[in-house]
Amino acid sequence: MAMALHLFHYHQLISTFQIDIVNLMKFACLLETGYKPTNPYHNSTHAADVAQASHCCLQALEPNLNSLEKLAVILAAFTHDLDHPGVNQAFLIATKSPLATLYGSSSILEEHHWRMGVGTISQSGMLNNLNNEQFSFVVDLMKMMILATDVTKQPKILTLSRKCIPIDWRNTQHRILVLQMALKCADIGNPCKPWKIAQRWADRVCDEFWLQGDSEKKLGLPITYDRDRETKPSINLNFITFMCRPLFIEWSNVAPGKLSRQMIRNLTYNEKMWRKKGQEGNLLKPEEDSGRRYSAPTKTSNCLKPPHSKVDRRKSAPTSSAKPLPKWDITRCNGSVTGKRRHSLPDNSPVYQTANVPRRHSLPHAVVMKNLKTEGNDEEKEKEKDKEKMEEEEEEEEEEEEEEKEKEKEEEISLSLLNISEKDYLLLLQ
Ligand SMILES: [Zn+2]
Repeated sequence: MAMALHLFHYHQLISTFQIDIVNLMKFACLLETGYKPTNPYHNSTHAADVAQASHCCLQALEPNLNSLEKLAVILAAFTHDLDHPGVNQAFLIATKSPLATLYGSSSILEEHHWRMGVGTISQSGMLNNLNNEQFSFVVDLMKMMILATDVTKQPKILTLSRKCIPIDWRNTQHRILVLQMALKCADIGNPCKPWKIAQRWADRVCDEFWLQGDSEKKLGLPITYDRDRETKPSINLNFITFMCRPLFIEWSNVAPGKLSRQMIRNLTYNEKMWRKKGQEGNLLKPEEDSGRRYSAPTKTSNCLKPPHSKVDRRKSAPTSSAKPLPKWDITRCNGSVTGKRRHSLPDNSPVYQTANVPRRHSLPHAVVMKNLKTEGNDEEKEKEKDKEKMEEEEEEEEEEEEEEKEKEKEEEISLSLLNISEKDYLLLLQ
């Protein structure tokens, strides 16, 4: 509730739209009860987290947005997973859930969240002072943003984004696209947070996946999230590679700045940490272990490979019958999107090759000379070898310390950009 009050106040939405504080509090209470507390991940803490992250994205876009758009972004963030059942779309279809009956076979969850959101807003009366036109604008924009959080829509959104850059703020379709990307970044941006925080969210999301896997086992359904096969490092590496990095690379082109740079730095560090954990526990599949396919994409390399069949599906399983977004005429967005999709670089592309350069041993000149003088003397040689080894170890330790210091500095900057202290953030996650 505190987060909702703060954000509405900060963006001057209460005064601009004459929102009754009691109705706003009613909205916040309805939100709290509208999320299932039994979900390890998709609960009201995730909603508050996404609202806070959306606020950061809004700050990056600030001068270009109007008050109605800001209102729609914040409402969409708070309501985007409302009444989430804690399982994905494939599970709902396989178990013939009433939600699948209600919403068909495409974006079942997102359609439901949007409708729940509009119902909650109406029930609270918080937007009673908006005229019909303003109200329709807000709920329509919310719909476009919430439906875009369906992960199966991501390739289309990224293709559009490439066509729209540089963003023309006079173009309505560009504006909608940027807001959709902002909510998507806020929604799946946990791997871009400092390592300690990213790990906590990863624990939650994996717990929820594995609960679904357990239910599938019990029901005799094909198992999507097998905790033996889909380990935590494996789930996170795949999610970073196929979902996060392509999105955040595009976002850094849409909204370049300190925040997007820092998020990509965090993402790269976290990816390295997950790989290290996976290698230590022997938990990765060969392609995940190599790191070659997982190298950071460059601007020219399209990392948009379709999700792996076993890849994390945070929202819903891909369907081939995805309908286009309503009122979103993508063909008007600076040309048609039916053109040929750029192909990803082949796996053997030089961009993805891991450099196999032997490390240079930086022995001082004096040591080299001494080595020459003591040639033939085995004992001396042995001593020199030991000394060299010690020097190397010291050098490595220094490098590690340096890296750790650098990381701490980055985390400090990152948290200050998020306007929240690490201590407070970790408390929020408890
Ligand atoms: Zn979400």
